[in-house]
Amino acid sequence: AVSDRRTHSIACIPADGIGPEVISAGVEVLKAVAAADGTFDMTFEDYDWSSETYKKTGKYIPDGGLDSLKKHDAILFGAVGAPDVPDHISLWGLRLAICQPFQQYANVRPTKIFRGTQSPLRNATHGDLDWVIIRENSEGEYAGQGGRSHRGMPWEVATEVSIFTRHAVERLIRFAFETAQSRPRKHITVVTKSNAQRNGMVMWDDVAADVAKDFQDVTVEKMLVDAMTCRMVLQPKSLDTIVATNLHADILSDLAAALAGSIGIAPTSNLDPTRQNPSMFEPIHGSAFDITGKGVANPVGTFWTAAEMLKWLGEKEAAEVLLQCTEQVCENGIVTRDLGGSAGTVEVTKAVCEQIRKAY
Ligand code: ATP
Ligand code: MG
Repeated sequence: AVSDRRTHSIACIPADGIGPEVISAGVEVLKAVAAADGTFDMTFEDYDWSSETYKKTGKYIPDGGLDSLKKHDAILFGAVGAPDVPDHISLWGLRLAICQPFQQYANVRPTKIFRGTQSPLRNATHGDLDWVIIRENSEGEYAGQGGRSHRGMPWEVATEVSIFTRHAVERLIRFAFETAQSRPRKHITVVTKSNAQRNGMVMWDDVAADVAKDFQDVTVEKMLVDAMTCRMVLQPKSLDTIVATNLHADILSDLAAALAGSIGIAPTSNLDPTRQNPSMFEPIHGSAFDITGKGVANPVGTFWTAAEMLKWLGEKEAAEVLLQCTEQVCENGIVTRDLGGSAGTVEVTKAVCEQIRKAY
């Protein structure tokens, strides 16, 4: 008989450092939630693309690799980066080599203070910080345009050209407004540096003003990125949805993760909102070689990532259960060292799976 069960095919790219540890934990909780929910199936295919394969073959992604990825519904990514490979090589070799051809132009980073965790902000607790940062993920300051001449000479010159196209800025800002509109507060902060950078950044402001006309129910405010860093620390409650360029949002989202308590908690989604290509989901932390292989990596960032992936795949209820169960385990004090606890990756994973089974 033909099954009418929903099936989601997931490509896993654990890659480097703690990537494999957190991805196997993530797959375990996804299997637990799918089994407990009972209305959908998930399949997982592992891709062993990493800095190790790069060092052996000179390539992160083998020939035909992207075509093979494309047949999946989503990609679950660990972390890329190794001590003996320059960061710009690993980043462009693997992460951006997927994000760019797959047109994952919206990078989405939700942040909140989990119950049971501590923010470095005095007096800030659960509920005081609940943001989603939308980052332009296809061009801007990371367009890779520029060059160097007269290498090594005192008169060496390097250019790093930012590219802003109305097409890319508009699709991203529109996506950000839709996100703001879907959240209870319907509030968006558009971040630029349009006082000092008077071309691309002023165009951002213009595009935001145009798009805002289609979202009359969303309140809009503009902020300069420097003032924004102060605002995030001093008035976290006043913010909700934040949209910024590739560079600015990269920095703001690391600040956001730190303010929420640990870099080990937060997720990132690299979305192709047109759904022509699979979207890619990853914890925001890097490969963290200092703790690799020790069994102490915090898997919570990957669990939240997995929940975001489920939401994107249409499994809203399972996503909510996974996130709530993860937060409950944190509140129960079963947390890793980075959150002040003593549990290992496996212990946290088991506790979350147990919590999921109890939730249904
Ligand atoms: P990358 O260069 O890819 O950013 P990284 O090695 O700099 O990788 P980050 O993820 O930026 O690592 O993290 C900085 C530090 O935070 C790590 O060295 C590690 O000690 C800690 N850390 C990161 N992720 C986790 C995690 N999941 N659990 C516990 N600690 C973590
Ligand atoms: Mg780092």
